[in-house]
Amino acid sequence: MTPFAYHRAASVDEAVRLGMAPGAYFLGGGTNLVDLAKGGVVRPALLVDVSRLPLAEIVETPEGALHVGAMARNSDVANHALVRTRYPLLSQALLAGASPQLRNMATVGGNLLQRTRCPYFYDAGFEHCNKRVPGSGCGAVEGINRNHAILGASAACIATHPSDMCVALAALRASVRVRGPRGDRTIKMADFHRLPGDAPQRDTTLGEGELIVGVDLPSDRFAERAHYLKVRDRASYAFALVSVAAALDVRDGVVRDAALALGGVAHKPWRRPEAEARLIGRAPTDEAFGDAADVLLQGARPATQNGFKVTLARRAIVRALRTAGANS
Ligand code: SF4
Repeated sequence: MTPFAYHRAASVDEAVRLGMAPGAYFLGGGTNLVDLAKGGVVRPALLVDVSRLPLAEIVETPEGALHVGAMARNSDVANHALVRTRYPLLSQALLAGASPQLRNMATVGGNLLQRTRCPYFYDAGFEHCNKRVPGSGCGAVEGINRNHAILGASAACIATHPSDMCVALAALRASVRVRGPRGDRTIKMADFHRLPGDAPQRDTTLGEGELIVGVDLPSDRFAERAHYLKVRDRASYAFALVSVAAALDVRDGVVRDAALALGGVAHKPWRRPEAEARLIGRAPTDEAFGDAADVLLQGARPATQNGFKVTLARRAIVRALRTAGANS
């Protein structure tokens, strides 16, 4: 690890000001950033510790939405009564991620900023990774790519986004509140993470110095029929090959609304409103679920080793929707 300066921010505004310094990184729970710094994948000049800022609240807003502060720990969010009862999809997704020890440290803000687990990205001695060294090539395209993207990838990068929490937030149409040098703004989850294009070094649409202060979840329609399905190589402490966040609002035997997003298949949580629309007004049957899966997976282009993910994803989508529909 290279030497770096450390400063514990006393306020959100001070953190934003310090975050403008060259080579500055915000430090929350540190469960990903510290590993990256130890491995020489990132070389911070300054760590701005934001973990003690008063941003850990989990509260209902006057409009009936839920606000979760950026410093709320993953385990606290997953086990909070409001989240468990009104947003079970989010609770399930959080509990599917990492390990209890990591969830006790990891924050909501840090989870949103997790970096890909592409092995070439983590090997600072490997020369060809556009995400780590722009313009250096992509070792995964012709290399080991079993875990990589089947949707939305580019010639420059075929990495996947690793978070479970973000898949649920995308399905639930959450938004991210940020503060930056030019003030406050809100970013829809659909717009928060980027596809790689020709700039895979940028994971998000955050501007320079912008700090995540929290996440807002709209008032809930998916409190009853929700299911997060994570398919992985071992039963726990593994990243998703494919994951599905699925929830249905069913009344009188008809789907009135649907929430659907995939993890483990793209550079960002993968959601297409057209796939959800394919379910609305229909009975919650396997035929309808399969139609929605086909829309969500349209344009899938596997890499050399992960063609199995297309079939796996279709089956996982149908199963997750079926399980969600059976809950009440
Ligand atoms: Fe790097 Fe992306 Fe290629 Fe992995 S897939 S080696 S992260 S450019």
